[in-house]
Amino acid sequence: MGTEKDLRPQRLDDYVGQDEIKKVLRVYLSAATTRGEALDHVLLTGYPGLGKTTLAHIIAKELGSQIHVTSGAVLERPGDLAAILTNLSERDVLFIDEIHRLPTAVEEILYPAMEDFKLDLVVGKGPGARLLRLSLPRFTLVGATTRSGLLSAPLRDRFGIHFKLDFYSEEDLARIIRQTASLLDIPVTEEGALEIARRARGTPRLANRLLRRVRDFAVVHGHDSITREVARQALLLMDLDDLGLGPFDRRLIITIMEKFNGGPVGLDTLATALCEDPRTLEDVYEPFLIRCGFIRRTPRGRMLTERAYQYFGVRRKDALF
Ligand code: ADP
Repeated sequence: MGTEKDLRPQRLDDYVGQDEIKKVLRVYLSAATTRGEALDHVLLTGYPGLGKTTLAHIIAKELGSQIHVTSGAVLERPGDLAAILTNLSERDVLFIDEIHRLPTAVEEILYPAMEDFKLDLVVGKGPGARLLRLSLPRFTLVGATTRSGLLSAPLRDRFGIHFKLDFYSEEDLARIIRQTASLLDIPVTEEGALEIARRARGTPRLANRLLRRVRDFAVVHGHDSITREVARQALLLMDLDDLGLGPFDRRLIITIMEKFNGGPVGLDTLATALCEDPRTLEDVYEPFLIRCGFIRRTPRGRMLTERAYQYFGVRRKDALF
């Protein structure tokens, strides 16, 4: 008990927040089930940890369908995808995480599969090769990506339904924390949950992760429930400040400040200076710092804002003259 998989809500009613998406999705789900048809293909966009995988599983469950899970990162050859497609049953859900990472040759197999439920296979080699067209069951593709701009236009256009997941409010994160706490059998007060939620950067995955670490702290120190004070002490020990900024965020900001004079600095240069992968910087750290108003993305690179200088108590160098 306690892995991410166990903590995933199973039904749409237990999926916290994202109210607009839930409202629309309910209509589509009930239309598809009433007609006994497959749901249109769904594209889920959102930063890591916002609930795309969870929602894909919920969609399958609500449809009463089987889900098949794969990722754009592991489907290397057309044959890899063909093998999965030929194993689907009528109205199954095929979930492809990180769909923007599909190689072009694999993506091309998807087009006729999504549009006409056909699979084009080349049989044999050289002049004797033939094109074999197989019929596929009517399935629903659920694709997940961090940014829809990463997808090729032809692929994006083949999704009938697009949902963009937003960051969560503190209240919603506190609800998720209480939901997880009850699954893990950890007593937490409302204020304790809110204290954790405040540092969770709008992201359910982080909220659940912080909850586990606060729970460990509580156990070690002999507290039988997570109160506001227990949460505060534990979070302080993790070196998270009031906004939820951790040591890496601070290093990132100080690096732009000191090594690049406040920017602009290109993503790759910044990543090299921090010994971090540029994609991780862009998808995991930056969105929150941008949302807090500490960093701006400009055509010439990343720049610190005045607010970053104020927060860190430093005056801009050029403001001194
Ligand atoms: P993603 O696929 O976008 O990276 P996941 O679906 O894996 O994110 O979610 C990460 C964690 O957060 C999971 O453990 C899940 O239980 C939890 N979670 C995400 N969204 C919600 C939500 N809306 N309500 C409750 N829990 C959620």
